Amino acid sequence: GAITHVHVRVTPLGDELALAVANDNTEMRAAEQTRREFATNVSHELKTPVGALSLLAETIEEGADDPDMVREFARKIRKESRRLTKLIQEIIEISRLQGEESVRDHKPVDLLAVVQESIDGAALTADQRRIEVSSAVTADPVVMGDHDLLVMAVRNLVDNAIAYSEEGGKVTVSLAEEDGVASVAVIDRGIGIDLKDQERIFERFYRTDPARSRSTGGTGLGLSIVKHIALRHAGTVEVWSQPSVGSTFTLRLQTQEEGTVE
Ligand code: ADP
Repeated sequence: GAITHVHVRVTPLGDELALAVANDNTEMRAAEQTRREFATNVSHELKTPVGALSLLAETIEEGADDPDMVREFARKIRKESRRLTKLIQEIIEISRLQGEESVRDHKPVDLLAVVQESIDGAALTADQRRIEVSSAVTADPVVMGDHDLLVMAVRNLVDNAIAYSEEGGKVTVSLAEEDGVASVAVIDRGIGIDLKDQERIFERFYRTDPARSRSTGGTGLGLSIVKHIALRHAGTVEVWSQPSVGSTFTLRLQTQEEGTVE
């Protein structure tokens, strides 16, 4: 039953098929490469807070008998632990988002509620830095998608706007709609971002100033998560920024047309 002779006829379709398979392989290799890089980055990023934690504990163990110093170290341990928890949660979130074609939940979402919830969620951090976060709403659009993920996206943008503003600054979240596209813009008058960094900040773990990001509890994953959430909703996220003037991050999503809600 062996095949004695094989005629290979390359039909146009066959060519296309071969090409498709080849592309698929290239894509698979690229995906594999990205996965490897991600794993390397993750272990590197995890080592930093874990190293800090064990160093702090070690110092206390070796007999810091000044109670004020012990308290200060305990505070640092708590801060590092918080950052570590956030990092782990975000790593899980990003892996989940990358493994999906579209969002888990696909329901009508009221963007005004999303904006309000994001601002409320950031209230404590805003207060700590004496930053006033206000909203400017000119529409009440409904989009199809996952409410919790959209809150996560806007919340990340608001948290950044607060983290990268000077104390006492102002942050505005605007909500508008035009030609079937809803836009949520988070506007700050903070430190801004150099043009050369603007196209890279959506990459995982990319930070313009790692020390500042770390001290504000940043993980370098926030904007990458925002990008993935936008993509999963067939939307976009873009940045406008100028150093020492401020930044505006805009999330755009197709609105749900009236009468088509299932
Ligand atoms: P991080 O956890 O470090 O904030 P992100 O992915 O959220 O990570 O952001 C990546 C980098 O982009 C930040 O480290 C910071 O350098 C820059 N960035 C993000 N948002 C802002 C902003 N509103 N103003 C200035 N820089 C920002």
